[in-house]
Formats: sequence, C-alpha cells, structure tokens
Amino acid sequence: MPRDTIRLTLDLRGVVQGVGFRPTLARIAVADHLAGYVQNRSGTVRLVIEGARAEIERFVARLPERLPRQARLDEVVEISRAVVPPGEELRGFEIAESAASGSMRISIPADLAMCEDCAREVLDPGSRFFGYPFTTCTNCGPRYTVVEGMPYDRERTALKAFPLCPTCRAEYGDPANRRYHAESIACPICGPRLRLLDAGGAPVDTPDPLQSARAAIRGGRIVAVRGIGGFLLAVNPFDRAALARLRDLKARPHKPFAVMARDLSVAARYCRLTAAAAHLLASPIAPIAILDAELEACAAAGLQLELLSPGTSTLGVMLPTSPLHLLLAEPLPGDPVARFELLVMTSGNRRGEPICTTNEEARARLDGIADLYLCHDREIALRNDDSVCAEIAGEMRVLRRARGYAPTPMRLRAPLARTVLAMGAELKNAIALGFDDEVVVSPHVGDLETPEALDGLLEVVRVFPAYFAREPEVVAVDLHPDMHATRVGRELASRSGVPVVEVQHHHAHAAACMAEHGVEEALALVFDGTGLGPDGAIWGGELLHVTRAGFTREGTFAGVPLPGGDAAVRRPARQAVARLLAIGAPIGDGIRERLGMSEEDLAVLRYQCRTGAGAPMTHAVGRAFDAFAALVGVAPDVVTYEGQAAVWLEAAARAFARGGGVAPDLPYAVRADRGMVIADVGPMFAQVAAKPPSRDRAGALAAGFHKAVARAAIELVRRAAAKGISTVALSGGVMLNRILVEQVVAGLRSEGYITLLHRAVPPGDGGIALGQAVVAGGDAGCA
Ligand SMILES: [Zn+2]
Ligand SMILES: [Zn+2]
Repeated sequence: MPRDTIRLTLDLRGVVQGVGFRPTLARIAVADHLAGYVQNRSGTVRLVIEGARAEIERFVARLPERLPRQARLDEVVEISRAVVPPGEELRGFEIAESAASGSMRISIPADLAMCEDCAREVLDPGSRFFGYPFTTCTNCGPRYTVVEGMPYDRERTALKAFPLCPTCRAEYGDPANRRYHAESIACPICGPRLRLLDAGGAPVDTPDPLQSARAAIRGGRIVAVRGIGGFLLAVNPFDRAALARLRDLKARPHKPFAVMARDLSVAARYCRLTAAAAHLLASPIAPIAILDAELEACAAAGLQLELLSPGTSTLGVMLPTSPLHLLLAEPLPGDPVARFELLVMTSGNRRGEPICTTNEEARARLDGIADLYLCHDREIALRNDDSVCAEIAGEMRVLRRARGYAPTPMRLRAPLARTVLAMGAELKNAIALGFDDEVVVSPHVGDLETPEALDGLLEVVRVFPAYFAREPEVVAVDLHPDMHATRVGRELASRSGVPVVEVQHHHAHAAACMAEHGVEEALALVFDGTGLGPDGAIWGGELLHVTRAGFTREGTFAGVPLPGGDAAVRRPARQAVARLLAIGAPIGDGIRERLGMSEEDLAVLRYQCRTGAGAPMTHAVGRAFDAFAALVGVAPDVVTYEGQAAVWLEAAARAFARGGGVAPDLPYAVRADRGMVIADVGPMFAQVAAKPPSRDRAGALAAGFHKAVARAAIELVRRAAAKGISTVALSGGVMLNRILVEQVVAGLRSEGYITLLHRAVPPGDGGIALGQAVVAGGDAGCA
C-alpha cells in the first residue's frame, strides 16, 4: 500500500532571519522525522517539508508555537503541495544555501542582546567560551551592526574575516547545537580579539586587555570601549572626580549619563524597577530604561546621582548587552579588581557628533577624552546607539529607537501607493523607507549639527534603499526649508528625478502615531518644541483633525513671541520675559533679577517683542514649559540639551508629588477664535508674576502647571470634538512628559475617548519619518 507522502512548499514572512529561524525549523523537522530543507531567500524563508500528510499538517499547525522567541511570523504563503511519487522522496532535512535573488522581501535582522546561555558559558571556566567577549549563538549577538549585504549570512557580514576553526565549524553544522547556523559564531581560537591602546594610540603591553581596562576604570580613568554598534565611554559612577572630568571633557554639563547595572537585582537596588521595565531590560532588545532612582539607596552607596543625571531623580539603566559588557563588570578568577555593580556607559562621541565606530575614528575623535581604548577587530558595519525606553501611562515606550528595535519593519494596515524615502527631522533624526505595507525606520541618526552627523545621515540614506533593493519613487521632507535632512532629500530627489512631498512637522507626528495603531482618522494633540506651520509661524501646541486626505488645524495654544529665536530656546529666561510682556504683566526688579536680566537685556527684549524683529511667533507647548520653568526658578540659565528646562520642571513636579503634595489649581483660558479653539496659559504667568513665589513653592507650581496644561489639552479636544470623533492620538516631544501624558490620558479616557500613544517609535522627532512615509507614500500625500 503506497504511503501518502506529500511535499509542501511554503514561503514564510516576518522577522525570520537572524533569529535562529532556520536552525529551529531544522531541529523540529528532524525531531518530527520529516524531510526537506529550509532556505533564506532575500527576506522570506522558503520551507520545503515532506512526510505523511497528517504529520505535515500537524507540523504546520504547531509551527507558530515552536518558533524561536525573537521570531515573528507575519504570513505563510503556500507555494505548492504535491504527492511525492515513490522513489523521489527527499532524504533528511537540511539548511540550503541562501538564494540571493528572486524574491523581493528583505528584512535586516536587529541586534540581539546576549542570551542567558552565552552569559553562563562566558563565566564558566569549563566552557570553551570562558572569558571570551565575542561569544554569540543563534539566540543572541550582533546582526544589523555587522551586516554588509543581504541576505543575512556570515559571508556578507563583518565576521567573514574570521574563518571558523574546526570546533566552531562542527557546532555551526550540528542541528542539535545552539550554534547551528549561528552566523556570528566565534571563539577564542578563530574569532575577533581585544586590544588595549593608550591615550596616544600605542598598544598597551598587557596579557589581559580586559583586566587592564577594568583596573583603569577602578583607578578613575575614562576608557573608550568598542561596543556592539559603536564606542562607549566607561567610568566608575561612584567616582566623583572621574565623572566630573568626563562631563568637562565631553562638554556635556547636564545631559544624563546612562549606567549599566551588573544584573536586575543591582538595578532594583538603586532604582524603582517595575515589572514591565525588568522584562524589557532582560529581553533581547535590552534598551536603556529610564527609571526613578531610589534616592536614599543611591546616597547611602555613594552613587553620584547629581553628576549622573543632574536636575532629575531618574537614572537611565541598562544590563550587559554583550559578553564584552559583562566581562567589564565581572572579574574572572584571578582578577584583583572588584566587580562593578554599576558602570557608566555613555555614548563615545563629542557633542553633536554620532558615536564612533572604527578604531581610527575613535582615536581621532575621542582624543583628549579617553585615557585608554579597549578596541577589537570585529568591524562595525553600521552604527547603532543604545535604544532608550521609559514607562509612560502603563507601558514601556520607545524614546530613542536604535539597537534591538531598528530596523525591524513596522507593518501598515494598508499598502503604500509608492516606495517612499522619508528624511525625518533635524534633531533626533531617523529616516524611513516605506514600501508595500511596511515602513522600515532607521536607527537613531541623531542631531544633524555637525559634518560627522550629516555623514551618518548620508550613510543610512545610501544603505537602506540598497539593502532593501528599493528605488524610492518619492522623497518625503519636512516643510522647513533650512533643515539638513530636507536639503539632502531634495538633492537626492532631483538626482534621481523623483518628486518631493513636503509634510508638515506635526501632521507627520500625528500620522506616525496613527500608523502605529492602524487608525486612519483621529484627532491629534501634538505638543512639541518646534516645527514650521504652513502660515510661517512655529507650531507645536496643536490639535489636528487628521484623515487620509490630510489635516485641518482645529486648535492651538496662543502664540507668543520668541525673542531671538534659537537664542531664547537656549535661555529660557528670555521666554519668561516674552510671556510676561505678552500679557502686559509688570516686570519689577525682583522678577528681572530673579531671571538674571539686566535693564538693558530687558529693553532689547521689549523692543523685539513689540516689533516682532527677530521674534517669530511660537505656539509650541514645549516653549511654555521652558518659560514657566524659568519663572519659578528651576530652569538652567543656559539649556545644554533639548527639552532640559521642561525635564527639570517635570522633575520638580515629581519631587513635590513624592512628598505628598497636591497640585494647586492654576488659571488658564480656552476660547474660540476664528474657527479654532485657543488654549492660553498666560493667566498662569500673570498669577505667578503678581506674587513672585519663594523658591520652595517651585515644586507646587510645577505640579500645578502640568495639571493646568493637561486640563487645557482635554478642553481643546472636548470643544473640537463636536464632529463626533472619539479617538485622540498623542504625539510630539512634549509627550515624553510622563506627568502630562498620564493626566491627559486619564482625563480623556474618563470622558470616553480612545487615546493612542506611541509604542514602537518615539513621540519626539525620532518618530517623524514614519509619519512622513505614510503621508507621502500613501494616496493622501500625493502632491
Ligand atoms: Zn547566546
Ligand atoms: Zn572557533
């Protein structure tokens, strides 16, 4: 009686490469005694599986639950199903050579943080990976950062320079091994090696570069470490002098430094570690999580919180993401340098520049900062920063999208009409490539302030279309003509003869949030620091009604002059004066001195605000936060990173709430004006100016300000929502403010609205490109 053998051919789509997908399929097929093969085909995986009909059906039915943890199966397409004639059966199951062409689906896998098994082996004296900083397996290791071409195979990665030793080759070829087809496999015999260089770039004569680097950090030195996606600077966070020196040398007086905690229990000792944060920290994404510091525990242990995270009581924490990170923290037997429970691991760059990737770049650009360089010879093909997340309104949300997240594609609800390259914004730039029903957002490129940063932009603009084999049919840019990203996009479009579509900044923010949720029509509260409106004013306190066809502006915050433009953004006190002048509040000597203004300064500001000379109108809510922070005395004189005054105002409000304070009700106004609803925070400034508060009232006023802005936001929605739209998207950089977001969300939900918050792309300018891609690539955005 003939055995009913069938051969089923499937194409599997989703996150299917670089996550141990093929080895897992091979393992379970062998376990089920089925024959066939599996093959990477430029983004899809082709599975040919052969056996008794019932067993094949059981195999396919159970497939989703048996996949590797990091895989995501979006689609299973049946290519063919045939009865196999006797004598033509396949024998065994194998992983076939990749097919480089033929298919159109490409995905570049994201980097995966060190898995538990590899961590254990690295610390196990009996393992051949003992003490080896480049240990990886199919469940972990670099992917995106070593990719030199597609599809993802060792021969097209930076690892191709390291031919496998016989032992590695055997594990690579053994279906029962965790390193079966692990493309980034390496060992102390055949893999990359560490080197230690001194400040002048000369090799340090040491038998153990890691141990020497650890000793140097313990001794107060700054060590540049070549990590997964670029260089990091490591110092001891308990060492006041070392931290102060690092701040000084990096010209970074205030922007927080992240720390790496040895493990979750250490993180939980110094910070309030929620279940959601712990889960994400320990996942293969392993971002930096911004956590509330346990102030007493930090102080008791001598952790220099005020130098790590000036003006706030939060701490950015990550876990060791590679064996190299782990081995920096953890001494091996015989190493006299004690374990580092915490280590500062901050970006290895100069201000305004992207992180260094090559040894030469680090030597040139970190010269004068790093005392030592812990280098290695596994090249970083593509730069990638650490991702940053925080828990807002009950969920972990992405604030900087890079390692672990990018470039995993976002799926859209409906296909785009054309392939689109979206150029993103000027600050916190990331670009996006949209095609079919996917948008691939690049890793964080950064602020486009320096030639080096622009080079970083040009690199992703070149690499993304090439790796995904997609020619952009349209280029999406911001409305603002002076942005570097806009200029690069226009040049690119004119060179390749494709149209440019301008997308208004806040429309892009809203569209990004809506795309994440697959929503085509919503109201959107977009609170931001800047962004050009079609009327030439600076927008950023917007209530938009967004549909597939575009948007209408339903409401905004009252416009106020921004005297000196960017100069006022840097000096929040100028903005406070402008707001007081705008409401006609008297500026007595008390307030003037408190704001650090001379009589002459004040005269200049009066002139600028009266005439509008060099004083564009701003509607941005971020600017209201700046001005209020200055008025109540919690803003820095000069802002040294974006949003700093608002971050400090939020910190003051949080400290007040921690102390059991109840936010006072501060006055604001909402009125209708020429078909729009206008929210006005002027009355709050008037009240505070009329009776200048003592410094110890700053926390209460900060809390009151948040509460009033949240109420004003809710009222904007309530007044504009007459059209019966009950879905509200929240986006823009101000929506990083946890207090504000949680109050707005609670208020809107209690009135029956559905609120949409960003999850996978940042609410700030790092998420803009997704929205630009959707608007310009869809039918709606066709100019
Ligand atoms: Zn592993
Ligand atoms: Zn080896």
